[in-house]
Amino acid sequence: MCCNTRVTDLALVERVLAAVDACADEIVDFTSALVRIPTVNPPGDHYTECVDLIGAQLASCGFDVDYIAAEGRPEHTPAHPRVNVIGRRPGRTARPTVHLNGHFDVVPEGAGWTMDPFGGIVRDGRIYGRGACDMKAGIAAALYAAEALRRAGVRPNGSVEVSGTVDEESGGFAGVAYLAAQKRLSTEHVDYVIIPEPLNVDRVCIGHRGVYWFELETRGRTAHGSMPFLGVSAIDHMALVIDRIQRELVPSLTGRSTAMPVVPDEARHATLNINGIAGGQPVDGIQTPCVADICRAVFDRRFLAEEVFDGVRSEIQSLMARATRDVPGLQVALRDLMVVLPVQTPGGSPLVGSLERHIQQVLGRPAVQVASPGTYDHKHVDRIGGIKHCVAYGPGILDLAHQPDEWCRVEDLVNATKVLALTVLDLLT
Ligand SMILES: [Zn+2]
Repeated sequence: MCCNTRVTDLALVERVLAAVDACADEIVDFTSALVRIPTVNPPGDHYTECVDLIGAQLASCGFDVDYIAAEGRPEHTPAHPRVNVIGRRPGRTARPTVHLNGHFDVVPEGAGWTMDPFGGIVRDGRIYGRGACDMKAGIAAALYAAEALRRAGVRPNGSVEVSGTVDEESGGFAGVAYLAAQKRLSTEHVDYVIIPEPLNVDRVCIGHRGVYWFELETRGRTAHGSMPFLGVSAIDHMALVIDRIQRELVPSLTGRSTAMPVVPDEARHATLNINGIAGGQPVDGIQTPCVADICRAVFDRRFLAEEVFDGVRSEIQSLMARATRDVPGLQVALRDLMVVLPVQTPGGSPLVGSLERHIQQVLGRPAVQVASPGTYDHKHVDRIGGIKHCVAYGPGILDLAHQPDEWCRVEDLVNATKVLALTVLDLLT
C-alpha cells in the first residue's frame, strides 16, 4: 500500500513537471507581455493595462477573478489608479489556502541600457527588460505553477490563489498592505504565502531586516555669502553631524551581526545610507550670495532582528545631543519617516521545508535559506494579515534587480515554476 501510494505520487509529480515543461513557451511569452507594459513606479504608470492582462490570464486558467481597487488610499487617483487582482481556484476543501503574490510595479528604467527596457526581448535563453527579474517572471511562475497543476489533472484538497499587486517598490500600502487590511490576504482566508521575488532559484528567503527612515534638519541663520562669519551655515552643521555619524555610529553598526542569514554577507550587519540631502539654494537655480539657513538629509538605517527599535532611535538622539553640546549654535531636529520592524518566518515552517525539498528535487542541489537585505511585502502579510507562514521564493538573480539590462534566465523561470507547482501540490495534498 505504501509502495503503491509512493508510485502514484511519483507519477503525479512527473505529470506536473511535464505540464510545466509543456507550457514553458507560454510562461516566457506571458513574462515578455508583462515586461512590455511599462508599469513604472513612481508614478504608477499603466497599472490598469497590466492588472487587466494578469486578470484575463487568470480567468483563462479557470480562476475566479476579483479586482480590488485601493479605495480611500491617497495614491489611488483617476490619473494613476491602484487596482490589484486576485485569482482564486477553490479546491475540494476551502482550506488550506496557498496564496502566491507578486507585485507588478517596476522601478524606473534608469540609464545604461543597451536594449529597449520595455521590449520584452528574449535572447540567448534570457528575458530582458525592466521588471523581467523583479518580478514579472515571478508572477508568470506563480500563475503557471497553478496552471500546471490544473493541466496535470490535480484536484487539490485546499485552494490556490494568485495575486498581482501594486506599489511594492514604494511601500506596498495600496497593494499587499491594502489587501491584508481588507482581510483578503489575512489569516481569515489564507494559510501560506509565497512571494516569488527574485532571490535566486535555489534560495528560500525567510524575512528581512528592519528599516528606519528618518530626517535630520539643521537650522542656521542666513547672512550675506561674502561675510559667512556673520551667519550660521546649516550646511556646515549638517556636515558636522554626518561626520560624527560616520566616525561614531557607522563603525559600531558594522560591528553588529545578525543570526538571520541575510545576503549578501555585508548586509548581515546593521547599515546606514543617506538617501538624499538638500540645503541652501537649489544647485541648478540662479545663485545669490546667501548663507544656508536650513539643511535636511534623509537617512536609511537598516536594523537587525536582534536590535530594539527604541534603541536604534535613541542612538541617533544621543549622537545629536553630543553634537549640540560640542558645537556652539548647532541646532538639529529628528523626524521619523518610516519604521518597518524585521520579520522572520517561524523555524520549522512547513512552507520552508516543502520548498527546500522541491528545490533539491528539481535542481538536484540543496536549497539555501537566506534573508533579504531589503524589505518587501512579507512585512504586510505578517504584521497586518497575521500570516506567519510567508516566504519569498522565485526566479531571477537578486543582484540584477533594479539594474540596467535586467534579465531573468528562462531555465530558472521554468525551474522555479516547477518548484512552486510541487510545493503547492505538497501543501494541498
Ligand atoms: Zn520586487
